[in-house]
Amino acid sequence: MNIDQVVTQCQAAGVRLVRLLYCDNGCTIRGKLAPMERLASRMAGGQGLTLAMQAMNMLDQLQPVPGLGPVGEVRLVPDPNSLVILPYAPHSAAMMCDMIKLDRTPWEVCPRTFLRRMIARLADAGMTMQAALEGEFSLFREAGPGQYTPIDTGLCFSTISMAAADDVVDALVAAFAAQGIAIDAYYPELGHGQHEMPLHHAPALRAADNQIWFRETVRNVAAQHGMLASLAPKPMPDQAGNGCHIHWSLWDLAEQRNLLYDPADPCLLSQPGYHFIAGVLAHLPGLLALTTPSYNSFRRLQPHFWSSAYTAWGPDNREAAVRVASGQWGSEASSINLELKAADASCNPYLALGGLIAAGLDGLARQLSPGDATLVDPGNLSDAERAARGIHRYPTTQAAALDALEADPVLMAALGPELATAYIAVKRSEYAAFAAEDVAFEIKHHIFKF
Ligand code: GLU
Ligand code: MG
Repeated sequence: MNIDQVVTQCQAAGVRLVRLLYCDNGCTIRGKLAPMERLASRMAGGQGLTLAMQAMNMLDQLQPVPGLGPVGEVRLVPDPNSLVILPYAPHSAAMMCDMIKLDRTPWEVCPRTFLRRMIARLADAGMTMQAALEGEFSLFREAGPGQYTPIDTGLCFSTISMAAADDVVDALVAAFAAQGIAIDAYYPELGHGQHEMPLHHAPALRAADNQIWFRETVRNVAAQHGMLASLAPKPMPDQAGNGCHIHWSLWDLAEQRNLLYDPADPCLLSQPGYHFIAGVLAHLPGLLALTTPSYNSFRRLQPHFWSSAYTAWGPDNREAAVRVASGQWGSEASSINLELKAADASCNPYLALGGLIAAGLDGLARQLSPGDATLVDPGNLSDAERAARGIHRYPTTQAAALDALEADPVLMAALGPELATAYIAVKRSEYAAFAAEDVAFEIKHHIFKF
């Protein structure tokens, strides 16, 4: 797609305003809008944005990060390939933007540029990544000021929960189709009012964009049905949390062959696949600060909730951090994939996927081994058994994950000093703000933010 094609497509759809969006270091989706008459020039010249916005946390508290003050700006330059005509907003379209400096080079603090850099590293190693984020969400109705009731109390996968949500789910299916985003399935989940609609896999950058469209679509379509959708990791402390598991496979750039597949292996997983898992597990404590980055994230990561809580891996093990997802009958070679359970929708998907690539590539470069597969729930092992198998409990707070990130030279180098400094400052300020308050404050400020 080029600028002219975007303009033509928007005109044909009767668009009046185009949202130029980005996901920031607080993992909030923000942006500015261009009227149709300005679209072509805004796409060519970018939309101005103050540098300070990448120092803003999820409570709109600006953090004192050197270089990210009120002086200076970058341009939000929309990616024409990310265009979606919005089925839930009148006469509107949206694109995801890269942050470009005034000298026309990519800004070091731009999360989408970070993912582009990591994808380029994969390409240097002869690979490309397919990824999908598996979105769970909880649907509520407002029951009074600040009071929310889940739309169902049905059981996991139950038809009673399906009935409670069938109108909104039908509208979601239509809304994704209208945006050219393929879904893989739909089912009610374990928690009250909890539902899941995994998206089909796509190249990594598109998969991250799709996660933005997922968040936007679920929230907006629910609102059109008189509901509130929460994508927060743990909107109800006593219910199952909302995960956003990351599935991925690695493909040979030249041959378009799934590099994870080896028919001779008991798990059908290739040696590069094992190295990649080992890299993810080795860096997981710090990686969590990117994949499960909010204060509320750590309320979800508990043993026995299928969210994972330990640095273990296993074939089809839903309590392991990394699950080797068995392939589909008849197409095992193309469909075998890996799943990171320790991810949720409060992440910035560009940072999460970029961090995952950096961790996995380190495992590949150093030919790390992930150790033996865990074939039981690691939460049922004794401390001694876990220690003997090299299985470790995750950091249990946002602050501890940020400490682990700062202590991880591979992830820090991948992010680069500018992005790492800004991100960590923003996230540390969120930790300080929430740690000083109670659970009600935490839920209030997470429940409908993502
Ligand atoms: N809701 C679970 C989580 O927090 C995941 C359930 C599942 O395996 O899909 O990750
Ligand atoms: Mg699920």
